[in-house]
Amino acid sequence: MKSNPGTIQEPARQLPVRKEVDVLVVGGGPSGIMAALAAAEDGLKVMLVESRSFVGGNMTIGLPILGFLGQKGNQIIKGLPQKYIDRLKAVQASSEHRPCPLHMSLTLVEPEAVKTVALQMLVEANVEVLFYAFCAGVVMERDELKGIIIESKAGREVILAKTTIDCSGDADVAFRAGVPCEYGNEQGGVQPPTLMFCLGGVDTEKLRLSIAEEPRTYLTDFIPAEYFGQNNQFVLVGMRNLVKKAQDAGLTLTTERTILITGLRKGEVWVNMTRVSGVNGTDPGSLTHGEIEGRRQITDIQRYLIEYVPGFENAYFLKTAPFLGIRETRRINGQYTMTQEDILSCAHFNDAIAVASYPLDIHHPQGGGCTLVWCGDCYDIPYRSLVPQKVKNLLVAGRSISTTHEAMSAIRVMAPCMAMGEAAGRAAKMAVRENKQPADIDVKKLQAELTAKGAYLRTPQSVANRKQPNT
Ligand SMILES: Cc1cc2nc3c(=O)[nH]c(=O)nc-3n(C[C@H](O)[C@H](O)[C@H](O)COP(=O)(O)OP(=O)(O)OC[C@H]3O[C@@H](n4cnc5c(N)ncnc54)[C@H](O)[C@@H]3O)c2cc1C
Repeated sequence: MKSNPGTIQEPARQLPVRKEVDVLVVGGGPSGIMAALAAAEDGLKVMLVESRSFVGGNMTIGLPILGFLGQKGNQIIKGLPQKYIDRLKAVQASSEHRPCPLHMSLTLVEPEAVKTVALQMLVEANVEVLFYAFCAGVVMERDELKGIIIESKAGREVILAKTTIDCSGDADVAFRAGVPCEYGNEQGGVQPPTLMFCLGGVDTEKLRLSIAEEPRTYLTDFIPAEYFGQNNQFVLVGMRNLVKKAQDAGLTLTTERTILITGLRKGEVWVNMTRVSGVNGTDPGSLTHGEIEGRRQITDIQRYLIEYVPGFENAYFLKTAPFLGIRETRRINGQYTMTQEDILSCAHFNDAIAVASYPLDIHHPQGGGCTLVWCGDCYDIPYRSLVPQKVKNLLVAGRSISTTHEAMSAIRVMAPCMAMGEAAGRAAKMAVRENKQPADIDVKKLQAELTAKGAYLRTPQSVANRKQPNT
């Protein structure tokens, strides 16, 4: 066997074709669930391949879904994502969309129900779900993606598809197919990952009332103290003075801010405070380092909360999230690349397929800081940012669409990812039904289907009438 130094030549082999489908969705996170549901709506053969044993992606790691409401308080993500929330609500597994001065809105969801309800909906929609299968390669004919190669306990197999939607978050399919991709900021730095964990036995009433009553002691970022007096479900960001005090006393805390999310169950709080700079979410060695270091950081964070933050006196450790949360890896180069200017100028696009409002929110690649900038209203996500350069039969939805590092920090939250997923699913369905490339579908028709099915898009009139954004 002839090899270059440090490499081994893998012998060519015949691979079995496991399945042939109309639309294949890779990745079952917020974008992938919606993409598969939308694509399957009128009877196409749709398959969703997920490397883990459950769907939900980052919706299962204890995070609130941000971005259903816009900066003016109106609901901007509707359609299938709202139908999913309604199903969660029916089993008491979702809160209302609660307005939040910092995050626009938060929708608290119960991670286990996220998995169960999404899976039920996919099964009801006749989506064939395949767990435990990792997309490890692609089948190409010149510039056309014909399918993917999966790797699993059953070995390497092929799934052929007329159109594929890459919802892996890491652009795994697009990258392997040869779509040009970018990684991180100009220096290659990415937002650091976080291993979320959950504490029980927290007196969240004491916590919020302490902030409301003693705002000078318990300083919060951007969210006024009165908010905590009025809301019993919240995301708390701040208490930098307490973090500093604990650091000065010798605790190792890698973030400057306390970030806490109340759970839906009484006494539960999810903690978003581990930070592991320099992790490459596309490399298993680096991910393993992130898991080890994230887990190591929990001890001091827990001590900090119990010793310095009101309401945590009797808190106890419940669980970690099922995996390290990756904020940023690859982004594709698409037919249009969204920029920071698009976000801050509340850009309107003729090919809008979703409306978002979440601010630029960049957790600095190094150090524990964060940059937040709001646009004052909403901005569109254009269809062209979901259409990759150079490769046919492929769409991308979720956090790895075509944006700059800065714009990605805004569109990455889960409500817009879901809306992109719905749009990609409907677009893939149109491409298959009309035997067209995703790049060639009639976007006006896609927009008409989206709005007919309940999604929210801004009319040119409403954009013209909007107030000037505060940049
Ligand atoms: C720590 C942290 C805090 C955050 N805070 C918030 C928050 O409070 N609220 C909010 O709305 N957003 C938050 N975000 C952002 C948000 O969670 C993500 O940007 C969003 O989930 C992206 O959705 P997605 O569908 O693109 O990808 P993901 O949610 O990452 O889902 C991708 C799915 O694809 C699967 N997959 C990946 N590769 C493959 C492969 N090769 N083969 C098969 N399957 C594959 C994965 O297992 C996963 O299920 C946070 C992110 C992190 C990491």
